[in-house]
Amino acid sequence: MRRPTLSVILGTLALLPTLLFAVNEDLAPESATGTQVQQSVEARHQLVVTAHPLATQAGYRVLQQGGSAADAAVAVQAMLTLVEPQSSGIGGGAFMLYWDNANKQLKAFDGRETAPASADENLFMTDAGKPMRWWDAMIGGRSVGTPGVLAMLELSQKQYGKVPWASLFDDAIKTSESGFKVSPRLNQLLTSKINPGLGRYPQARDYFFTPEREPLPVGHQLTNPELANSLRQIAEKGATAFYQGELAEKIIAAVKQATDNPGKLQLSDLKNYQAVERQAVCRPFRDYRVCGFPPPTSGGITTLQIIKLMELAEPKQLQPNSIEFYQLFTQASRLAYADRARYLADSDFVDVPMDQLLNENYLRQRSMLINPLTDMGKANPGELPNRLSRADDQSPELPSTSHFVIVDRWGNAVSITSSIEMAFGSTLMAGGFLLNNQLTDFSFVAEQDGKPVANRVQPGKRPRSSMSPIMVFDKNHRLVAALGSPGGSRIISYVAKNLYLKLSSDLSLQQAFNTPHVVNRNGVTELEAGTSAEQLAEPLKTLGHEIKIRDLNSGLHGFFRQSDGSWKSAVDPRREGTALGD
Ligand code: GLU
Repeated sequence: MRRPTLSVILGTLALLPTLLFAVNEDLAPESATGTQVQQSVEARHQLVVTAHPLATQAGYRVLQQGGSAADAAVAVQAMLTLVEPQSSGIGGGAFMLYWDNANKQLKAFDGRETAPASADENLFMTDAGKPMRWWDAMIGGRSVGTPGVLAMLELSQKQYGKVPWASLFDDAIKTSESGFKVSPRLNQLLTSKINPGLGRYPQARDYFFTPEREPLPVGHQLTNPELANSLRQIAEKGATAFYQGELAEKIIAAVKQATDNPGKLQLSDLKNYQAVERQAVCRPFRDYRVCGFPPPTSGGITTLQIIKLMELAEPKQLQPNSIEFYQLFTQASRLAYADRARYLADSDFVDVPMDQLLNENYLRQRSMLINPLTDMGKANPGELPNRLSRADDQSPELPSTSHFVIVDRWGNAVSITSSIEMAFGSTLMAGGFLLNNQLTDFSFVAEQDGKPVANRVQPGKRPRSSMSPIMVFDKNHRLVAALGSPGGSRIISYVAKNLYLKLSSDLSLQQAFNTPHVVNRNGVTELEAGTSAEQLAEPLKTLGHEIKIRDLNSGLHGFFRQSDGSWKSAVDPRREGTALGD
């Protein structure tokens, strides 16, 4: 498709991009908890990239001791439960892509939370028939879904583990007992009262605050003997120790204890929980094959839609960080987010037209709606035979959730996004860990104009997610990359932008992660505060965008294969992550 270039239309404005962004820019955006410059690690054999140094070390140790990527994932998650409690843990849910290198097989393990069997579509409605206010819904027991992390880890480790399950908790148990230093990020999130429910219930109040009710200071040596005890039981008896018996009873007691907002979770919900193996969703993109996670997350389909729409609308590789690039990216995002809102939900409960949404002809038609010179405004979803009314987006961007990637010496790899939803989840604690508030990812409203909303609450259903663990393969079916991010529904945007940049330019993955974020979820165009993206405001306004400048707090972690076969890490400068490898 030939189009006049923006440089012709916008004259000098269009020169801005080259002045604004150096490709090697070590971005230092001012986000909620600051930034750090990240050094890439190159590894020939094995590599771990996580959001916290102690979790990276725990995973790396398992690899050094002969463990596989599936083994190391257990150690990482156990440690993250302790040291990054605000983001993920065994009280939450996760999605895992697993690459089995010997058999050239990609597996998708679903550990998403489920709605209690006794929940119905009125879960988040008031007696007056109105949707509840967000905070009223999420703090306390009501929003707690059946946690899926441990069932998922056990399912994958049984298939792909090489060392005993019990050994994978050693580091996390030891550190829970000896303590770890409260990080600046954890302290800032406590200080900022990001979750107003934190402190309402005694367990979390006593754990995260001093006796004077001050947030724990940076460097405070925080121990968690209760978590050590829980992990010891899980190490000895497997995930059953979590889903049945004393720990399960503790979880239900915590949910019931929230008498101001009680939940519906029962012992039977925990006992009946099953992690599920699904089929990864893959499509060709340029010289690669990009694979994501299918529903109940919208992440895989929407990410693939964005990059495919960009490729179809403009086959030429646009200069990273140019206005042309961001115009194309925001327009493709609008179209994909519109489809997401209408069609995506748990496909075990509603019919999700996956093939239609990724059909080349359908996407080609949709890509024709992209005009390089004008913001299209609110995009409508595509017309598909499936007629589900739209669910309003109920997942605001929150600095919770964690993404980690691991590759082992046999070439097996994991790409896992793990979450308790809001920072500090429901704020309820049991057994030394926080319980999720993932059920607020459902649509609070069950129908609109008499039509059912795809993502309405139903018993046993999994709330629609945005989590987007990704793996990329080359033409010879070799794994070349794994990545993902936290960020609520902006996850998709963060992942799609970096994927597109890496696969369409000479940027390293780290350089891509360092570029400033520009997000459009079919509404305003958001520019990352404190970065050179702010200077895009005027040129984008000229194209008709409504602009908002704000923190865009991703936590991208990934790796990419170099031409010599070695792996190179990439760590988001916006969080506290690290990489270790050899
Ligand atoms: N609960 C969100 C989801 O599943 C993730 C929350 C976050 O990343 O902050 O999509």
